[in-house]
Formats: sequence, structure tokens, C-alpha cells
Amino acid sequence: MTMTTSDGTVVGTTKIVDNGPATQRWNLVIMGDGYTSTRLGQFAADAKSFADTLFATPPFGSLSRAINVYRVDVSSTDSGADDPTACGGPGTTARTYFDAAFCTNGARRLLVVDNTTALTVAGSQVPQWSMAMVIVNSTVYGGSGGSVAVFSLAAGANEIALHEMGHTAFGLADEYEYYLGCGAETGHNRHPAGEPAEPNVTVDADRATNKWRDLVAPGTAMPTTTNADCTTCDPQANPVPAATVGAFEGAHYYHCGAYRPQFACRMRALNNPYCAVCSRRIRQTIQPYLPAVVTRASSVGRLPGHPDVF
Ligand SMILES: [Zn+2]
Repeated sequence: MTMTTSDGTVVGTTKIVDNGPATQRWNLVIMGDGYTSTRLGQFAADAKSFADTLFATPPFGSLSRAINVYRVDVSSTDSGADDPTACGGPGTTARTYFDAAFCTNGARRLLVVDNTTALTVAGSQVPQWSMAMVIVNSTVYGGSGGSVAVFSLAAGANEIALHEMGHTAFGLADEYEYYLGCGAETGHNRHPAGEPAEPNVTVDADRATNKWRDLVAPGTAMPTTTNADCTTCDPQANPVPAATVGAFEGAHYYHCGAYRPQFACRMRALNNPYCAVCSRRIRQTIQPYLPAVVTRASSVGRLPGHPDVF
């Protein structure tokens, strides 16, 4: 483990969305990496931008009273992130607090930070943190969704963040059917037989046993689509209405043998809504933090037992 906390300073924490005490809410903690001390105003704007996007994105809008958002200002010595030549980057190394780097597993887009450092800072600043997120001050496209959700400031940054938090906070799988790219790799023709643990991908397209079968209409074919050429990604357009839940072949990094619940989903490609299965998992996770509905049966001017109308 590389400790790089000499390359910056934890400046302080601000609660930017307050829906109640941290002990009773789902607490999102947003930190920054690769922001120099003079750029922390930009980080504040970037964090607010993401929070605004989050609450404007279904299903989070209907869950908003359950969610607090905290911004942790962290300054770094240098701007940006490591961007190795091995993945086509310029070979930049940046001295940053969380040691952000592109090019994990040979994929430039896989941007990671030192998770131990990030979780240590989140835990010390907001002990009741529910999810830790790091915004990396680079315009190179990238993100990742391990124990910490990470994203850069490439075009569509907030969309990347919504995808990555699908992994980090809700245990969702990638629904796309390649790893490095369609036609750019071998070993991704057919998914292994084992059933993935994540709720939104499966090897089981049988109507009787599929894990999201309660959302599949009786008239929907199972599987709903199949890939005619397992050596590459399926090029076919969606043959059914967009909202149809079924089993669409091509998911979880494989061209065949794995299925996703809808043709499109944010966990498959950016700028799509979360599919019904992903949305349900998000609601199931956050709903327990919604404030209880208060019934003020004895409010002034009301008879005992007379319900308030909200
Ligand atoms: Zn999905």
C-alpha cells in the first residue's frame, strides 16, 4: 500500500444536503483528489453538481428525505491523477492525497484511488457514512465502483458517478457484454456457468427460476433476445418496448450466456435510466432511512385521534 497522505491535507467537512441526523439517514460522503488548495472552490461546485444530479435522477428523487450529503475538502500537492503510458496516457504522475490513477487492469478508463485512505478519511469525518465517493480532478474519462466510487471530470462526469455508485452502494453488476471492448479481446464469448451474486445479471433465462421473474410479464419471451454470434457483441436493436423486463443476452462482460433485465440500463451504458431491477435494489437499500411519517393526533385545534392531513 502506498501512503501518500503527505501529498495533501484534509481541510474540513461541510454538510451540503441536510435531511436529518447522520445517525438516522443514508449518508453520502463526497471527497476530492487532485484538487490543489486554490481549487477547492471548484471541488465544492463539482460536489454540489453531483448532489443536484443525484436528486434529479430516479429513483433518488423520491428517496431524497432519506439522504444526507457531506463534502470533505481535501487538498493535494498536484492537480490530476497518474495516467500511465501503458494505457495510452502521457505518463503523468501526480502527487495527490488519495493517489488517484488511471489504467487499472490495463484499462485506461479504470480510475482508482487508495481505498484504505479514502475510507479512513470518510470514517473520521462522518462516522455514519453510507457511501464514500471521490471526484478526481482530471478531464480524462474514467471511474470505478469498488469499495469507494471514483469518477473524473470527463464530459458526462455525473453520469459516470451514477453508474459507479450502482456498484459501490447497491452491489449492482456491469450489464455490458465486453471488458476492454467488442472485438478487442478474447475470452469473453461465453459467461461461466456460475450464477453471479449481483441482482441485475444472471445466467438463468428460465421463466420459472430467473431471479427477477416477478417483474417479467407472461407475454414476454424468455430469453427475450439471444446473440446469434457469440464471438462478438450482439448488434441487434431492441425488438420490444423499452420498458420490457425480460432476459436480454449479453451482460456481465460476456457476449453470450449471461442476461440483463432490460435492453438498456445505466449499468450497461451511460445516459440511460436505471432498469427496473436496479431501481428496485436502490429503493430497497435507501427506503429504511426515510423518516417515519409523523401523526400529530393531539395537535392544537384537533380532537384526539383526528388525523392530520399531509
Ligand atoms: Zn440495470
